[in-house]
Amino acid sequence: MTGTLDIPGFRPYHAKVVGKTVLSSSFVRIYFGSDEFYRLGTDGFDQRIKILLPLSGERWGDPHLFDPESIAKGLWYQQWKALDNANRNPVRTYTIRSANPRQRLLSVDFVLHEHPGPAGLFAQQCCIGDNVVIIGPDAFSRHSALGIDFLPGTAHHLLLMGDETAVPAIAASMECLKRTRWKGSGNVIIEVPRADDASLLCSMVTPRRFHVAALDREHHEERGSQLRIRLRALIEKGKLSETRDDLYVWLAGESSVVRSLRRLLVTDLGLSRERIVFTGYWRQGTEEM
Ligand SMILES: Cc1cc2nc3c(=O)[nH]c(=O)nc-3n(C[C@H](O)[C@H](O)[C@H](O)COP(=O)(O)OP(=O)(O)OC[C@H]3O[C@@H](n4cnc5c(N)ncnc54)[C@H](O)[C@@H]3O)c2cc1C
Repeated sequence: MTGTLDIPGFRPYHAKVVGKTVLSSSFVRIYFGSDEFYRLGTDGFDQRIKILLPLSGERWGDPHLFDPESIAKGLWYQQWKALDNANRNPVRTYTIRSANPRQRLLSVDFVLHEHPGPAGLFAQQCCIGDNVVIIGPDAFSRHSALGIDFLPGTAHHLLLMGDETAVPAIAASMECLKRTRWKGSGNVIIEVPRADDASLLCSMVTPRRFHVAALDREHHEERGSQLRIRLRALIEKGKLSETRDDLYVWLAGESSVVRSLRRLLVTDLGLSRERIVFTGYWRQGTEEM
């Protein structure tokens, strides 16, 4: 689809829950349907979206969210910020796990976590027919790939690491690389809460020369420790040094864990900072907005 420069990269979509599948102890996949998804962007990889969740009574606080002028100028966030607290729908950031504009469908894999806020509760409790607003990419815009951080450029070796919240982005990125017959090699290291979450990842689709390590923390109290141990081992065995000048690293998950992994790569491996993209997907003890 040919995009147009003056259409904002993201737009709001009315969407309804049309399906829900429990994948494992910590993951539930929710399918959203919308007649407007015919124009949903499908650039893929770690494409982020925002989900606006209903206020009690299925209420939407912004009466102008779907005004043509608001959509044409991409004003949803400005308008949301200007609302008083009682009228602000909770908004959370998620990843498109799969998008199918022909079928007017989009899926998101939600982590069921211990202290759920509005999004975690919605994932647990939602039923077919429940409404959300998805602020997602617009295929009619030239900027539809806004919100993709996975940009390996010409690198031939990849390292992707993260916790359970990074799983949808990593899985979607792997599928995109395979689809585009990407020729390099890589490692994926993921830490998830339970053994059955890790088993789920054994069937992850990847390009041919990829190794996936799915680690669970069932017997390890400290979040992120498995990731650090595995990364240190790779560095100490020299597994990353040969490819260091052609390596691209993508890190996501709990903020302090991600920072600690980046530190290891910079100080112990001597990797240049430009070769690492890192994003705190959530912060222990802090709600997103
Ligand atoms: C670019 C991006 C992409 C993301 N993609 C996904 C995705 O595809 N799937 C997904 O599940 N998450 C994803 N996340 C993370 C998700 O946005 C957060 O986990 C979010 O805070 C959950 O919202 P909530 O309303 O349940 O909790 P909040 O109200 O934000 O927080 C409530 C409490 O729960 C804690 N908390 C939040 N998330 C977690 C967690 N995962 N585990 C343990 N404690 C937590 C907070 O520290 C806080 O104490 C993504 C984040 C970003 C920035």
